[in-house]
Order: sequence, then C-alpha cells, then structure tokens
Amino acid sequence: MVPHSPGSMHLLDDDYLGQAGHMLSKVSTWNFDIFLFDRLTNGNSLVTLMCHLFNVYDLVHHFQLDMVKLHRFLGMVQEDYHSQNPYHNAVHAADVTQAMYCYLKETKLAEQLSPLDIFLGLMAAAAHDVDHPGVNQPFLIKTRHHLASLYQNTSVLESHHWRSTVGMLRESGLLSHLPPDMSQDIEQQLGSLILATDISRQNEFLLSFREHLDLQDLDLQLASHRHFILQIALKCADVCNPCRVWELSHQWSERVCEEFYRQGDLERKFELEISPLCDQQTDSVPAIQIGFISYIVEPLFEEWHRFTEASPLSQTMMGHLHKNKARWTRLRYAQGQSDTQDEETELEGRRDGDIP
Ligand SMILES: [Zn+2]
Repeated sequence: MVPHSPGSMHLLDDDYLGQAGHMLSKVSTWNFDIFLFDRLTNGNSLVTLMCHLFNVYDLVHHFQLDMVKLHRFLGMVQEDYHSQNPYHNAVHAADVTQAMYCYLKETKLAEQLSPLDIFLGLMAAAAHDVDHPGVNQPFLIKTRHHLASLYQNTSVLESHHWRSTVGMLRESGLLSHLPPDMSQDIEQQLGSLILATDISRQNEFLLSFREHLDLQDLDLQLASHRHFILQIALKCADVCNPCRVWELSHQWSERVCEEFYRQGDLERKFELEISPLCDQQTDSVPAIQIGFISYIVEPLFEEWHRFTEASPLSQTMMGHLHKNKARWTRLRYAQGQSDTQDEETELEGRRDGDIP
C-alpha cells in the first residue's frame, strides 16, 4: 500500500471539509444528514455545526465572545459525550441542535426571539445530554450510582448534564467577561431548559402547552413565555427522530434500541430486574418504536403542529411521523408472522420426533 504523503492527506481533508461546508449551506433543511456530516467533519459535527450557527446569528459579536474560549468550550462539550454510546453521543447532540435550529427559524418564533433566546436554545441543545452514561435513571438508582444519591434520585441525568455544562462554561471562561448576574442568569436558564428534557416530566409540559394553546394566551413578547416555548422546542428536538425521513429515522431507532439492549444485558449479567424496553428477547425494535411514537412523540408534535399553525415544516414532520409509524406497524406484523412461522416449524419438528 502506498502511504499517503502529508500533502495528499491534506487535500483529502480539504475535500471532505469542502463537502461539509457545502452541507452547511443547507443546514436548515429537515432532511439534513447528520451522520454524513459527522463523517465529513471527522467526528466534529457538534463543534462545526455550533460554530457555523453562532456565525449565522452573529452571536460571537453580540456577546463579545472570545473565539479561543468558544472553541475550547465546544471542544470540551463534544469530548464529554461518550462516543461508545450507540445513541447518546455527540452526533445525537448535533442532531438535536440542527432540529432546534429549524424550530428557531419557524415564522411563529423567529421574529420574537432575542439573541439571548437563540444563544440559550442552541447551547442547551448542544449540551443537553453531555456525559450521558448510556443507561437510564432507574439503572443508576438500583446500582446505587453516586450521581443518583448526589441528585436524590430526581432528574439525575438531566441535573448531571446541566451541572457538567456549567462546570465547562466556568472552566473555559466563555462567559467570564459578562456581568455576574448575566452569566448566572444564563446558567439558570440553561438548567431549566436541560431539565425540561426529563421524559418523566412529559405530561406536566404537555398539559401546560395544551392549556396555553386552548386559551390562546401565549404572548411571545414575554420572556417567560418565550422560555416556555424554548423548553417545548428542545423537548421536540430531543424526540424528533420519528419525524425524520425513514432513512435517517430508522438509523436512530436501531441505535436507541441497541443502547437499551446493552443496559438489559448488563442487568441480566448483574442479576437485576431487566428494565422495560431493554430485553432483547421480548422487546422488538418495531414494538419499542410504535410505543414511543404513540405515547411520547405524537401527542407532543400534535400540539407543536397547532402552535406553528401547521407550518410547512410541521406538515413535513407529521407526514414522516405517520409514514414511519405505519412502516413500523407493518414490520411488527411481518415479524409476528415470522415468529409464528418459527414456532410452527419448531412444533412440526417436535411432531416429527426431533425433540423427545
Ligand atoms: Zn437527548
């Protein structure tokens, strides 16, 4: 094999980065392929995307940010995601950030948002799962993980994501030039956004969102109402996988189920009760996805659809959501059929005297 000279490697890098740059010109499109973008940026999708979006919104200038500190901070965030997690890794964070960007651009929101809202929305999306261990809160509680006792068994992971983000903000000194009350306010708002992604608080947010829409009392001139919509937008971005085109959506489904199954395998190994959805032998990918879509994604996106007044993006997302659900339903049915066939073959085998 002919080794690459440093020069040709450089050309290769330039070519990839050129393609990544071309992709960034379409970063607001819903079928943006974050997996391809991550490969083209050599695993730097989160840092590259965030730098680009900070430029798009002129946030560096607006908040007088130091570029070196910004790079240091973003590099720390990206590094602190576990690349060995099939799902909760930096590519998921980049995907959520890209979705968040699409939501921030919604007509209903775009004109009302302040630079601070945009800064908070993007930062919360990028950091919302940082240092995720690849197992869920019940697992941390039953294995007496130190994080569970630190956060008293409540929003354990989300509290950790937030406190880690604050730690990195302070260590990088990104906000050290701002007045203390402002950087404190940013830290608090980031916490409130990241903690909203705790799926066990889903109903609380959904009911409140539905009530606001029924009463038509959302006033986006109010900072508190904009903050609430940012929480909802981040929640939507976090669970929007089934609203993506099938080719992207099913990759996420496979990844998240792989992470669940790994937890189930650990539980089996340590003779712990296997958590719901984590048993490879009984919980199929289609069944997990149909449940997730029906109980979490559909109810939330139906309200988001109402909020955006059926924007073109919302219509696209609802279209994908329904098609993907139908496809998983067909797959589950087909799997059920083949399972039945397997059982029948096995029974026939027994009848033939294969098994005593
Ligand atoms: Zn997430």
